[in-house]
Amino acid sequence: MKLINENGLRVDGRRPDELRKLRLEVGVLEKTDGSAYVELGGTRIYAGVIGPREAHPKHLELPDRAVINCRYHMASFSVDERKPLGMTRREVELSKVLREALETVVFLEEFPRMMIDIFVEVIQADGGTRTAGITAASLALADAGVPMADLISAVAVGKVEGTLVLDINELEDKYGEADMPVAMAPNLNSIVLLQLNGRMTADEISKGLEMAQTAIKQIHQTQVEALKRRYKVEPEGLET
Ligand code: ADP
Repeated sequence: MKLINENGLRVDGRRPDELRKLRLEVGVLEKTDGSAYVELGGTRIYAGVIGPREAHPKHLELPDRAVINCRYHMASFSVDERKPLGMTRREVELSKVLREALETVVFLEEFPRMMIDIFVEVIQADGGTRTAGITAASLALADAGVPMADLISAVAVGKVEGTLVLDINELEDKYGEADMPVAMAPNLNSIVLLQLNGRMTADEISKGLEMAQTAIKQIHQTQVEALKRRYKVEPEGLET
């Protein structure tokens, strides 16, 4: 399968350093304390946060900080081959990966003996669901009013036919040479998740990181705008 054409464009017509169309909404679910929706090309994800609330079951509570539970789940209809019902090993692992990335910025010690539940539901998958899931969950945490040092933003960089590409889609993930998900707390200039599936040279990794960092700043800006749309209070007009 040809992944880069003679004009240097990708299967979906993008340039190598181009992000897919990104749409972010905050406060989309009524029965959670915080929620967000992320659409990144064909990848569509809802995130919901419940808490901070009293820990339940009680034996899981910690005396000096809050506990975060995270569940990454793919709808059975979100992929071409119907995914088995229930949690697969991949989903259990990704739940941990997401939690560890998000936990780095949450002020957990402000909520001893409490619990925060994060639900990430992939409705449609077209590559990069762990990174888009992190972007969504971080917005949902902010919407729930959970104090954090920064908003986490994430994107995956890949390598296809020897070319580094930003924000890989499912085809590129499947037939390409490498997939490198990156999540950052951009204002703290810290990387909170870095994985590499496949092979890249050290030079490609640093170029890929630079590419990811530029896109992450853009995603971060879009997250801030989504929060402002939700929470901006219009100044009251002067009555005359
Ligand atoms: P990520 O979604 O973070 O890139 P993976 O690299 O594991 O995680 O998966 C890449 C892509 O492969 C997913 O985004 C999805 O489009 C597809 N995929 C994942 N799991 C399945 C599955 N069980 N069946 C079919 N496609 C899947």
